[in-house]
Amino acid sequence: MHLTATLLNYYLICHRKMWLHAHAIRMEHTSDVVYEGKLIGETTYPQRAERYTEVEISVEPDVPDGIGLIAKIDFYDPYNGVVHEVKKSAAKEQAHVAQVQFYMYVLRRNDIKAEYGIIEYPKLRQTERVELDEEGESDLKKWIADASQIIGSERCPSLLPKSKCKSCSYFDFCWSGEV
Ligand code: SF4
Repeated sequence: MHLTATLLNYYLICHRKMWLHAHAIRMEHTSDVVYEGKLIGETTYPQRAERYTEVEISVEPDVPDGIGLIAKIDFYDPYNGVVHEVKKSAAKEQAHVAQVQFYMYVLRRNDIKAEYGIIEYPKLRQTERVELDEEGESDLKKWIADASQIIGSERCPSLLPKSKCKSCSYFDFCWSGEV
């Protein structure tokens, strides 16, 4: 199988969410939150498509039962080697940084320039620069290996505390029937 930025994002939020998504149990299409995110990405910077390139790139598994990587990058600046990501969130999250680092890692594994990343938060009117140094790459590799192991398990990971689940698209799936 291939690990995506979405799965890595979920890994950092909730292992159970990542496992469910990886096993094709999907709820996102019913979520207004996801729709809003797409809408912001499409409407905030309408001139984007002219300036940047959409890239889909992969790293194939090293061994037969290993895990490959797929990155689908919406806004890549090939001249300067900069990955841009737009987030609708009103809060910065480690998972956003990890997502951009994942894109940079996959580009570099393909010998494509990835100097740094920029996360744009239109709601906050802020941007955040993302680097991928040796330490960051080492963390990323550990997360990828751990995520791969969890996804490969037949057992669905445990629930998070309910207080952390309020905005999750799997809320009804996980908590219906619970008190
Ligand atoms: S509802 Fe909670 S436990 Fe279930 S996938 Fe979402 S965050 Fe994880």
